[in-house]
Amino acid sequence: MVRFNQHYRKLQSSYLFSDIARRIEAFESRNPGRSIIRLGIGDVTRPLPAACVSAFHSAIDEMGSEKHFRGYGPEQGYGFLREAIALNDYQALGAEISADEIFVSDGAKCDTGNFQELLPADVRVAVPDPVYPVYVDTNVMAGRTGRFVDGRYEGLVYLASTRENNYVPDPPDESVDVIYLCFPNNPTGATATRGQLAEWVEYAHRRKALILFDAAYEAFIRDPGIPHTIYEIEGAREVAVEFRSFSKTAGFTGTRCAFTVVPRSLMVTDDSGHSHSLHALWTRRHTTKFNGVAYPVQRAAEAVYTEEGKQQVRALTDDYLLNAELIRTVMTRLGFHSVGGENSPYIWVQVGGDSWDFFDRMLNEAAVVCTPGSGFGPCGSGYVRISAFNRYERVVEAMERIEAMVR
Ligand code: PLP
Repeated sequence: MVRFNQHYRKLQSSYLFSDIARRIEAFESRNPGRSIIRLGIGDVTRPLPAACVSAFHSAIDEMGSEKHFRGYGPEQGYGFLREAIALNDYQALGAEISADEIFVSDGAKCDTGNFQELLPADVRVAVPDPVYPVYVDTNVMAGRTGRFVDGRYEGLVYLASTRENNYVPDPPDESVDVIYLCFPNNPTGATATRGQLAEWVEYAHRRKALILFDAAYEAFIRDPGIPHTIYEIEGAREVAVEFRSFSKTAGFTGTRCAFTVVPRSLMVTDDSGHSHSLHALWTRRHTTKFNGVAYPVQRAAEAVYTEEGKQQVRALTDDYLLNAELIRTVMTRLGFHSVGGENSPYIWVQVGGDSWDFFDRMLNEAAVVCTPGSGFGPCGSGYVRISAFNRYERVVEAMERIEAMVR
């Protein structure tokens, strides 16, 4: 028999969402017909914006015509989409990013998971706690960690995001090579100020570290003081890669389109100390292992940047933010400390005790599904994440049920 990558044995077998699914299934079999309200998994519920649907249809018609049919496209994405992204998401904010620094892909999950492939096994990696599990598990698979002990992997540096630091960790005293940051954050919903991001950029310059900045929830930022991209911070072009996605922005979770920004000014070093362009390395990796996002999907994504697309995306995210506001207001009124929900679709609620106990109570007494915070790391224990991805009426009903449960 062939041997397999032994680092996979360190992975924790029960994936958070399969555990949740199992408990829901058990509840359903005990309570047939009971309507469950799902505010757990971070998947969108509203359909694609009309502008995207129309562009999608037209592009499919093109693919069905002799004259306009297209085969393989550029692996990094079509120029029309890369230019629209550079112009609207970066240059319009004064961030100096050009179209050829953008790599279109089929998801920020793949990109945040794959990027570490460019780094050697012995780099020191820092991740937030609580954390989007992809950052951790892909580093485990690559052999950058030791065993899993008390909810954490040996060899990783965990950046505690707690009530004390307002869920935005400071740079550590020790040196790390790679830092994963995510703002607006999943799961806490917290956002970082310009000053906080500037501290991280300064740290990365001083310690010669690389920041992998996940901004998948950027479209939910409403506060004008909060940066939309790390490239609004001076010096970030030399130290940061940014991941974005159309998933939560425009309901593309099932359509699949995202992008990664790798500035040309980002340099890394080889074993002899010679500099190399990270952009060139990611180009090599991306073009070797990926064959581009479907043309109609890229046309649908491009439509996000039309005038009507922008309005529709705004309306879509506004709807979720209305849900988020309601959730946060009710949970706060019920006496729970909560964060997020203002510039993010997630509300992080301190429930005390064991997160799974509160999850079970919400499921069994209110038939409402949330996500236990402990599933995102030890700093999530005593918290649950409530997601705003559902219809407003369902959220109203969920909050009435939770209120009745608590009172
Ligand atoms: N990054 C974060 C922080 C997420 O929460 C998610 C999805 O939930 C993703 C990335 C994945 O996005 P995509 O759908 O583009 O793969």
